[in-house]
Amino acid sequence: MSQRVTSRIAPTPSGLLHLGNAFNFLLTALLVDFQDGQLHLRIDDLDGPRVDAASVEDIFVQLEWLGIDYDSGPSGPEELFKQYSQQTQMERYSDALQSLRKSGTLYACECSRSEIRQLSKSGNYPGTCRLKELDFQNDKLSWRVHVPEQTYVSFKTFTHKTEKINVSQAMGDFVVKRRDGIPAYQLASVMDDLELGVNFVVRGEDLWASTAAQLFLAQCLNDPVFPATRFVHHRLITDNSGNKLSKSAGALSLKMLREKHHTPVWIYQETAKTLQLPFEGIRTLDNLKEVFRSAMLQKNGLLTLLEQGK
Ligand SMILES: [Zn+2]
Repeated sequence: MSQRVTSRIAPTPSGLLHLGNAFNFLLTALLVDFQDGQLHLRIDDLDGPRVDAASVEDIFVQLEWLGIDYDSGPSGPEELFKQYSQQTQMERYSDALQSLRKSGTLYACECSRSEIRQLSKSGNYPGTCRLKELDFQNDKLSWRVHVPEQTYVSFKTFTHKTEKINVSQAMGDFVVKRRDGIPAYQLASVMDDLELGVNFVVRGEDLWASTAAQLFLAQCLNDPVFPATRFVHHRLITDNSGNKLSKSAGALSLKMLREKHHTPVWIYQETAKTLQLPFEGIRTLDNLKEVFRSAMLQKNGLLTLLEQGK
């Protein structure tokens, strides 16, 4: 309890940021601010081929526009690539993969995505290669972690309640190293959080299964700290047809919203609305912070909203 709250916002530079990203960043910043914690900017740029300079630039431009301050992390693209890029951390990821492999929890897999789609209704990997003992040295294969049936992990919610997730059901045997040799998101994400000392994660409810995967990996890597991390899984902002926003969100991209509204007031108000807070009077980020803070102190519906699991 005495440890300082450390959180991060973790955009992926593979398209323009959208309203859903802004909501996640603002909610994270509000919660960190409320707990007098520290906020780190982490850019998930591991997927080299899908990272483009315009998307990287977009992250810094929109964060500044939204007025979101962070305590550590890159101040711009140049510093990102020099110092903070996940590309500079490959050795750490690779060490983790080797230690997982040595502990006997991994196996190599030759299945393609379309093969898996045909075999599995749930989308979870059906375990086809589990007993094949394929060669880890074959660089055309992915590596999967074996998740035994009925494997549960637990985590703490915002108010320190314990939630349990069945990892085998949520994720199945998931990929830790992709066929193209790049460490999978689940592995890189948990390794980065461990490195940064993250103990508080705010993410969309669509990442519920990822939470399970990452906690499981931390456990396999014998990390004693990560299980104490508190997680908030928030609802997602959807478009008019109720679909989750994507990186090609068009009119709801922050770039477009900025051209339309000029100031971020509309976004602050949308954020308050989504959190069921009074929004009409909000003109600045400080206004939003005040409204948020007073709702948190009243321990009313807002806390319930943050406690909602999936
Ligand atoms: Zn396979």
